[in-house]
Amino acid sequence: MHPLMMGSLSWVEYQQRLQDGNAIVLIPCGALEQHGPHLPLGTDALLSTAIAQSVAEQISGIVAPTVSYGYKSQPKSGGGQHFPGTTSLDGNSLIQMIRDVVRELARQGADQIVVLNGHYENQWFLTEGIELAVRDMGSASKLRVMRVEYWEFLTENILAQVFPDGFPGFALEHAAVMETSLMAHYHPKLVRLDLIPDVPPVEFPAYDVYPQRPEWVPASGVLSSAKAATAEKGALMADHLTRTIAAAVQREFQLSSALAASNGMAALR
Ligand code: ZN
Ligand code: MN
Repeated sequence: MHPLMMGSLSWVEYQQRLQDGNAIVLIPCGALEQHGPHLPLGTDALLSTAIAQSVAEQISGIVAPTVSYGYKSQPKSGGGQHFPGTTSLDGNSLIQMIRDVVRELARQGADQIVVLNGHYENQWFLTEGIELAVRDMGSASKLRVMRVEYWEFLTENILAQVFPDGFPGFALEHAAVMETSLMAHYHPKLVRLDLIPDVPPVEFPAYDVYPQRPEWVPASGVLSSAKAATAEKGALMADHLTRTIAAAVQREFQLSSALAASNGMAALR
């Protein structure tokens, strides 16, 4: 039993954590989506959960159960919806799920919440769910929510070490060096390094079409090669992400509390 995991706590233990004050609850969000022949369908959810756990250990946070389904996979960032196993939510479903979870946590007194996203396509639906939950709670609520796309914390310095031959951009980093290295670090038994396709980065048109065009996407589902992935690169990124996200969360919520305590909420607006 992991004491950081909300689903493993009794209500009595959870209530105690809330009453101790300053509880920070992290909600990992992912997707069920093809990640090439070498990574599992649950990669985005597994990585956001692993990073949320690492961060929670640093800040005595609590990790809520992962939102394991995400918004529809897009050809240019996740390969698209035509792969068996890619099982996605309509945007409205994801918005309402995040809205409900954030509002429910806040209703019980968890007013420092981090939505930690591991699936590129989720971003604006999570944003809308958070916005609506904040509105639901009203202006008298102390609820503060951070939305984190973990890859945004990778600095140029780290990217230069992970991609010595040049960084292809986060959209093409689907099932590629970043995700494969992080999986090799956090979940080595779930990575099949022997099955990594060696493909050049895909070139897409500057527009999208609907219905999606499966023929834009390589049959493997990989958008740029993961051949250069290693567990060492994964450890480097995981360590950096844990430290920098934990620091950002602490900074943000200490700032919010300090301003609220000094009746300085106006300064936040
Ligand atoms: Zn992914
Ligand atoms: Mn994804």
